[in-house]
Amino acid sequence: MAEVKTHSFDAIIVGAGGAGLMAALYASREVNVAVISKLYPTRSHTGAAQGGIGAALGNIEEDRWEWHAYDTVKGSDYLADQDAVDVLCKEAIDTVIELEHMGLPFDRFPNGKISQRRFGGHTNNETGKPVQRACHAADRTGHMILQTLYQQCIKNKVNFFDEFHVVDLIRVGDTVRGVVAVEISTGDFHVFHSKAVLFATGGWGRCWEVTSNAHSLTGDGAAICVRRGIPMEDMEFFQFHPTGIYRLGILITEGVRGEGGVLLNSKGERFMEKYAPSIKDLASRDVVSRAIFLEIQAGRGINGENYVHLDITPETVNKYLAEAGESRRITREYVEAKLPDIADFTRTYLGVDPVKEPMPIQPTAHYAMGGIPTDVDGRVVLDQNNKVLAGLYAAGECACVSVHGANRLGTNSLVDLVVFGRRSGVHMAQYCKEAEKLPLPKNPVDEVMAEFDRIRNGSGGAKPYELRKQMQKTMTDNVGVFRTDETISKAVDDLRLLRAEYNRNIQIDDKGARFNTDLLEAWELGCLLELAEITAVSALNRTESRGGHARDDYPKRNDVDWLKHTLCFSENGKLRLDYKPVVIGRYQPKERVY
Ligand SMILES: Cc1cc2nc3c(=O)[nH]c(=O)nc-3n(C[C@H](O)[C@H](O)[C@H](O)COP(=O)(O)OP(=O)(O)OC[C@H]3O[C@@H](n4cnc5c(N)ncnc54)[C@H](O)[C@@H]3O)c2cc1C
Repeated sequence: MAEVKTHSFDAIIVGAGGAGLMAALYASREVNVAVISKLYPTRSHTGAAQGGIGAALGNIEEDRWEWHAYDTVKGSDYLADQDAVDVLCKEAIDTVIELEHMGLPFDRFPNGKISQRRFGGHTNNETGKPVQRACHAADRTGHMILQTLYQQCIKNKVNFFDEFHVVDLIRVGDTVRGVVAVEISTGDFHVFHSKAVLFATGGWGRCWEVTSNAHSLTGDGAAICVRRGIPMEDMEFFQFHPTGIYRLGILITEGVRGEGGVLLNSKGERFMEKYAPSIKDLASRDVVSRAIFLEIQAGRGINGENYVHLDITPETVNKYLAEAGESRRITREYVEAKLPDIADFTRTYLGVDPVKEPMPIQPTAHYAMGGIPTDVDGRVVLDQNNKVLAGLYAAGECACVSVHGANRLGTNSLVDLVVFGRRSGVHMAQYCKEAEKLPLPKNPVDEVMAEFDRIRNGSGGAKPYELRKQMQKTMTDNVGVFRTDETISKAVDDLRLLRAEYNRNIQIDDKGARFNTDLLEAWELGCLLELAEITAVSALNRTESRGGHARDDYPKRNDVDWLKHTLCFSENGKLRLDYKPVVIGRYQPKERVY
């Protein structure tokens, strides 16, 4: 049996993306903190974020945080909690300035202020026209945020455990005592004993076949919480980003459309004029993804295939800018300067030069709106009465505050990370100063170690990559951009069979201890399967269409029955659904028109 080492800290942060690092920075000013990450911190997915971070700075035209809040609530199809949205949009402003002061190299306007561009769903509420709200560093905004925060953490002497894979939460009754992790290079188990734990483990886009998400986005933190009795909120709402590279899913930022790019079908029509007459290609992502899907279904995909074109060539863009009566024109040099990574991706992966020809794109699984339920201080809540589990926190994509409701606006995830990462870090530090460190239970690693032994020694012939492929296919075919009772039921059946196979017959090739990614990926597959089933079961029960959850058999939003958050509990191997009210504030639900 592998050796078990024990470490002791006040607070443990699992995950070193934007949310984890922001929390670490704040918590470490007051208490003793360790950040545990399965990836080297700067490889976290936050580093892949391209387009921008939204804040109503008003650097080039009038803007107000209340407009940002209204856009967020409208974008969420009225499912977001409006008290949390106010916090998000108000605090966005000073967190972006704080990032600037930490040294983040934002692009700048000629007047020296942070450059801002248009993004889907962000508007001037008086005119209904797109507003320039997305602060950016070319199309590498997330990369710059991650590097900046990591440097600050190093400067502030935060303790890092890089390439340690957290596999369990130590929960005793309604108290939290730490986590269990596997050291990837040795296979040794480690116990991290603490007063508080924060999960900032990111999303689970790898449940789907075509996805913008990195290989590592397998929902570990969320699945660990489910296994330790914490419900998952609003899991049926998963975002499909309209513009992934055809077949590969690699993201082409909405910033392309923010800079003037347009979507065209096989007839060369700018079809978004039909679906969203007012803001066209900059409608919210759920609306644009469905429009693309419908165009393809109607036989207007390019060459009869399952994709359409995204065109940022100056010829096309300038034609539409002129038509709209705008004086602005773009050049090839401008595209190269504002979207260098995108140009690089499409040249490398497609042999397509975006300044000369359009890019083939299709919707790609992108972002988890749902997740571990929390309050605005990142504290995890356990039920419909928002009962807090003291000492447990979640922030970033794995958490559901809920500020994104049924559909997230572009640029609002990066805001979420820094705003709620910061609040969680502050709250957690305060908590640790007052709380006592409770003793570890006896043998805290036994249960998860037994599961690892089962996977390592299994001989039933079910290969993880086969099961993963089947899960991704059924999720894409049946719980994708559009769903029905029939398709979702099929997915639920498929997933239950796959989970049974996983539990009985899993077999891996590598039986070793060091860098056993075969074993760890098989364990991650267990997390994905668990979250996929929760997603499908939550989706099956919600008999309406709202935001990212579009049901062909229930095409309308139904506020009378469904203006509520889903909570899905896993109890003795069975899933149980419950619901909790949405917090409404200034904005009463109304029909969304773009
Ligand atoms: C291609 C792409 C482009 C995007 N562009 C934008 C954009 O322009 N604007 C915007 O607002 N949003 C964007 N998003 C969304 C946004 O980037 C993500 O939602 C956000 O970065 C998630 O950050 P996070 O801190 O929650 O987690 P991540 O950055 O995903 O980090 C997760 C961390 O958890 C760790 N971890 C996970 N599991 C374990 C485990 N078991 N044990 C130990 N550590 C673990 C990982 O090592 C990693 O450090 C984009 C997303 C993608 C995929």
